[in-house]
Amino acid sequence: MERFLIETSHRKQDCGKLAQGLHTQDVFSQFDWACAGGMHTGWAIVEANSETEARLKVPRLVGGQARVVKISELDVSRMHAAFPCWW
Ligand SMILES: [Zn+2]
Repeated sequence: MERFLIETSHRKQDCGKLAQGLHTQDVFSQFDWACAGGMHTGWAIVEANSETEARLKVPRLVGGQARVVKISELDVSRMHAAFPCWW
C-alpha cells in the first residue's frame, strides 16, 4: 500500500450540500476541512494501491476538483546521497 494526499475544494455556496451528502459516508471522517476558517478545502491522507484507487475515495460531490498526490516519508539517507551539498 502507498499513501496519497487528497485535496479537494468547493465553493462556499456548496458547503452545506457537501456536508449533507457526506455525513453518512465513511469518507467524511477521513477528511479535515477548513470551511470554518473560510477556506472551503478538505484534505485526507489515504492508503491505496494506486492513484486510481485513491481517487475512488474522493467524495463524488467534489471528485472533479480533487488533486491526488502520492506521498511518502522523507528518507534522510537517500536525500543525503542525492544532495550531498546540503549537508
Ligand atoms: Zn465548505
